[in-house]
Order: sequence, then C-alpha cells, then structure tokens
Amino acid sequence: AQVINAEFVKSSVATEACPNDGLPEFALVGRSNVGKSSLLNSLVRRKKLALTSKKPGKTQCINHFRINDSWYLVDLPGYGFAAAPGEVKKEWDKFTKDYFLQRSTLVSVFLLIDASIPAKKIDLEYASWLGQNKIPMTLVFTKCDKRKKKKNGGKRPEENVQYFQELIREFFEAAPPWIMTSSVTNQGRDEILLHMAQLRNY
Ligand code: GDP
Repeated sequence: AQVINAEFVKSSVATEACPNDGLPEFALVGRSNVGKSSLLNSLVRRKKLALTSKKPGKTQCINHFRINDSWYLVDLPGYGFAAAPGEVKKEWDKFTKDYFLQRSTLVSVFLLIDASIPAKKIDLEYASWLGQNKIPMTLVFTKCDKRKKKKNGGKRPEENVQYFQELIREFFEAAPPWIMTSSVTNQGRDEILLHMAQLRNY
C-alpha cells in the first residue's frame, strides 16, 4: 500500500460537482488545527499538496486528490473554527453532511481527533452524527507524539484516545476502527494506507 503518485484533481462546491469516474474515495475531516493538512502531506509524502485547499475561497470546498490513478483522498473543510459566525457554520454543516449522505463512492470517513488534548464536545457531536447516520468511519488520532502537559488536561495521548472511544461507543453498533498517528514521526502512516487498501478490496 504505497503512494506512487498523487495529484490534485478538483475543488467542488457541491456533491453533484465531484468527479464522477466512480473511483473509491476516503474523506478526511476534523476540527480546524487538528493536523489534517500535515497528515495529508505525510500520507502522500509531499510538502505542499494540501496547500491548494488552504487557499482563500477553497476552504469551503470538497477537494479531490487522485492517488495512483485508482482512488481518491478527499480533503473536507475543517469544522469548529471559533471565528465562524452561525450562518457559515450552518452552511458548512449542510454541505458536508449532504456529501456524507449522498456520495455513493465514499468508502469511509476518516475522522481526525487531536490525541494531545481531552475530547472536545464538537468532536463527540460529529462522531455521534456519523454513527447515528451509519456512515462508515475510521478514527484517526493525531499528534500522538505530544507529551502530556498540565495545560492540555494532564493526560497522555493514549489516555485521551481510550476515553474518546468510550464516550462514542454508544453511537455505534460495532466500535469503529482506530489508528494512532503523528505527522512528526510518521507513526500510523503505513497503517492508514494499509487500512484504506483493505477497505477498497471489500
Ligand atoms: P489543519 O488545520 O487541520 O490542516 O492542521 P495543520 O496540519 O495545519 O496543523 C496544525 C498545527 O498542528 C500546526 O502547527 C502543525 O505543526 C501541528 N501539528 C500537526 N500535526 C502534528 C503532529 O502530528 N504532531 C505535532 N506535535 N504537531 C502537529
């Protein structure tokens, strides 16, 4: 499960505008600052690939990256940005939730959770929404290289990871698969790519 080539294909403003070649895809989503761009770049081993989605005007888009000419990594806008006014948040919600519910080639949502801090309410809400709507989900814990700090709640990443899983358990029939990662050490990189390969071959 290696990335041989990766290319940015398209930014789409709605599910209907996404590529329609039928290739399977995996969506990356998470709170702003969770480390999504870093992870995306670590997955494809390129420094600047995800920058496209950070350009002003592209942040509210569904961004498709084609991998090895055979599947897509999809970068979705980050949620929970403190500065977003109510209307922007509502718009974001409608747009991404529509994508999750309508996109037939979506194999699994990879929900990124920061393992260096305690669970955030918005992350729990997001995970529970995916569970209740039976959208296949994989939990990706980010920043697992960070050591515990008093100001971050004083817990080790492993403790935050375990607690988060306990909190969301009731929303899922079966516990979702989960992977611990770090874009600094590349921990979990191969595991994510292998997991994606396995999901594509179902
Ligand atoms: P995004 O907003 O979700 O795309 O997050 P970024 O990838 O831009 O990362 C947000 C911040 O977290 C940056 O300061 C990164 O350097 C830092 N960061 C991202 N991933 C990691 C990680 O695995 N470990 C550590 N220690 N810091 C990280």
